[in-house]
Amino acid sequence: MALPTSIRERPRRTAIRAARVFDGHVMTDGPTTVLIDGSSITAVVSGHVEPENAELVDLAGATVMPGLIDTHVHLCFDASPDPVATLAERDDDAARTAMTAAARTALAGGVTTLRDLGDRTYLSLGLRTPDPAPVQPLPRILAAGPPITTLAGHCHFLGGAIADDPRAMRAAVRERAERGCDVIKVMSSGGVMTPGSRQEEAQFTREVLTAAVDEAHRCGLPLTAHAHGTSAIADCVAAGVDGMEHVSFWTTEGVEAPEHLLAAITERRIVVGMTVGMAPAPDHVPPPEIVARLPLILATLRGLVERGAVVVAGTDAGIAPPKPHDVLRTALGQLAEVGIGPLEALRVATTGAARVVGLADRVGRIAAGFEADLLIVDGDPLADPEAIHRILAVYARGVRV
Ligand SMILES: [Zn+2]
Repeated sequence: MALPTSIRERPRRTAIRAARVFDGHVMTDGPTTVLIDGSSITAVVSGHVEPENAELVDLAGATVMPGLIDTHVHLCFDASPDPVATLAERDDDAARTAMTAAARTALAGGVTTLRDLGDRTYLSLGLRTPDPAPVQPLPRILAAGPPITTLAGHCHFLGGAIADDPRAMRAAVRERAERGCDVIKVMSSGGVMTPGSRQEEAQFTREVLTAAVDEAHRCGLPLTAHAHGTSAIADCVAAGVDGMEHVSFWTTEGVEAPEHLLAAITERRIVVGMTVGMAPAPDHVPPPEIVARLPLILATLRGLVERGAVVVAGTDAGIAPPKPHDVLRTALGQLAEVGIGPLEALRVATTGAARVVGLADRVGRIAAGFEADLLIVDGDPLADPEAIHRILAVYARGVRV
């Protein structure tokens, strides 16, 4: 029998010296030492101190920041040109191996917490690792299990298809709660990667969505809905969802975002999961219907940001070649297109995301008592956008990756 990590290993005391710290709220320039004991941050000290009995990690010129949090990924999709076909060819063992590799890619790229918003047969739940982290850590994973969808609906091939019926919906939500899912994901409209489903069309009735939200809340779980179509977004808002993904206001002709819905999303603090982050993928041809609508979608999101809506950056990592599992770093600069500057972008991907995934008291900050999930980069990401890609070290719950 393997011993728990806490018995196998003594707690590790580490002192990390850097040139500046982004603590999740503000960037503080000047020599700083971050102290770690075991899986937690124990102190953040101004100046370069050398505490006793601690491994010293001296990183001149570096910025220490909280590990990034991606609020929307799919570990089961491998960012290949046809991830649906690739997954179909894998049995659960092979899929689990690929998902582990995807999680490692995310972690190596500075994503220390991720929320999987759609897997097959609940495989992502098995990848959640106990505290403290094992020697070969994975990111902290929050899992939705198979997304709940209609019988031939968006991502039905992941196994979460049900009849458009309140009782079937309540049963599907309860099953996820009983299996230990962290969040409920419902496909309220069609999606790009499912032939036959249409983004502009709602999949469930408002009554069924309302039942989903009610049952999720009864189980103590938040619910976020994949929502492209304007009518589906209207139904989600009426049903009282906690969050929506994509929020593109997709119609047959283009994009249509009615004023009253933008106001309702903002006032009710419904989390807007903006699908951002694109890595270079020279051979990838994006679907023309997305290319045509993208400027309009970005304009709508900018409007929501200007109104003060709760927004968060979820990448949809895995669904296509420009979406590798470490793509979140590329989203930070791209948030400028929706009116979010460099400092606020760092907040969105750390403290903001931590709040949205329900972990604001544990992750997303560099402060005493918080988990030692760190991304350490060479240079100042506020002054030099490329610095975020020059990763010097990543720590997951105190373990250097
Ligand atoms: Zn997705």
